[in-house]
Amino acid sequence: MKLLVIGAGGREHALAWKLAQCPRVQKVYVAPGNGGTAAEPDAENVPLAAADELVAFAQKEGIQLTVVGPEAPLAAGVVDAFRQAGLRIFGPTRAAAQLEASKDFAKQFMMRHGIPTARHTTFEDAAQAKAYVAKAGAPIVVKADGLAAGKGVVVAQSVAQAHEAIDRLGGKLVIEECLAGEEASFIVMADGAHALALATSQDHKRLRDGDAGPNTGGMGAYSPAPVVTPKVHARVMREIIQPAIAGMAQDGTPYTGFLYAGLMIDAAGAPRTLEFNCRLGDPEAQPILMRLKSDLVELIERALDGRLRDAEAEWDRRAALGVVLAAHGYPEAPRAGDRIEGIPAPAADCRVFQAGTRVQGKDLVTSGGRVLCVTALGDNLRAARSRAYAAIERIRFDGMQYRQDIGHRALKK
Ligand code: AMP
Repeated sequence: MKLLVIGAGGREHALAWKLAQCPRVQKVYVAPGNGGTAAEPDAENVPLAAADELVAFAQKEGIQLTVVGPEAPLAAGVVDAFRQAGLRIFGPTRAAAQLEASKDFAKQFMMRHGIPTARHTTFEDAAQAKAYVAKAGAPIVVKADGLAAGKGVVVAQSVAQAHEAIDRLGGKLVIEECLAGEEASFIVMADGAHALALATSQDHKRLRDGDAGPNTGGMGAYSPAPVVTPKVHARVMREIIQPAIAGMAQDGTPYTGFLYAGLMIDAAGAPRTLEFNCRLGDPEAQPILMRLKSDLVELIERALDGRLRDAEAEWDRRAALGVVLAAHGYPEAPRAGDRIEGIPAPAADCRVFQAGTRVQGKDLVTSGGRVLCVTALGDNLRAARSRAYAAIERIRFDGMQYRQDIGHRALKK
């Protein structure tokens, strides 16, 4: 079987690696891929991005299954284009991907279907938004309506900060109450009617240790997330995931694909939805896929055939933890072209998934903000973390930045 993965990040490297292990898979093409997917034994990069080029490639090569990594092609309708051409592809349609592509759509959807989330108001007018914030007071959260690669949300600690965010983000804005608690990532596979939960995870969005500094795409993640106890898990499925899948079907936009609920879990264990993403998280995918023992192609095929209801995924009982190594200047202005050295050979319990990397002659060089995600398994989180940081000691590139404290919340418990 020949597969195609769309995307270029660490998540896509992990997907390509995992899919290539499935016994029926001969080859995984990655469009456009990165330095890591170029080096995977059964993978090959293809320099394509536009939906019509991808469809033509899949037809010509006889690709039997395509998996989409990032949100942008989903929101642009790549799944619709493949389906129209009679090609199998795993991901939500453009209509269903609005759950991530428009915060206003997501909030209205959650209200309509009784899914717990922060109270909100949507504004098209900056002056009205400012007046509302002045009255409501801080802390308060200001969100741009559209896709913003993690940069469209400001948790304002003062009215002045919120006003500044309203001016800077502009356009349609969602303003919502600030929720307290602990965050977790809850990702499922959906077949339009049923959901199969993947292992839980937690990521670290801030650039610096102690959750300080600017927001990023994610500086590290681990699985499982201890805050999601079996009781919380059952509540999330019952109160958030199942109503979301049923609601999308009821609204005429059935959801197929990975669905990611970003959760805030309060001290009493009540989960509320911060956001939906229409894809696997990056970097959450890296530790999650390290722990997946089931055949991923089989699970995706079940989802595409509407047979997820009694599916089960088998997980490695060990914990996994991934640390992101980012480029100089990330997240504002990442520098490209720094030579990367010392990446250890893949081992059963430690792999380096690549993201912003590119092969240049004989060298591997940085080409994006998040460069590598060093991901390790261990009998517990502490062991996984030691193994990941030990591997990092051998890796070098100029301006390399990473957090020393990935997993700190879980290790405090
Ligand atoms: P989002 O893209 O909506 O998940 O927002 C990005 C980050 O902003 C989240 O991971 C949270 O850390 C924070 N955030 C978003 N909404 C809220 C909220 N209502 N209350 C507190 N923090 C929030």
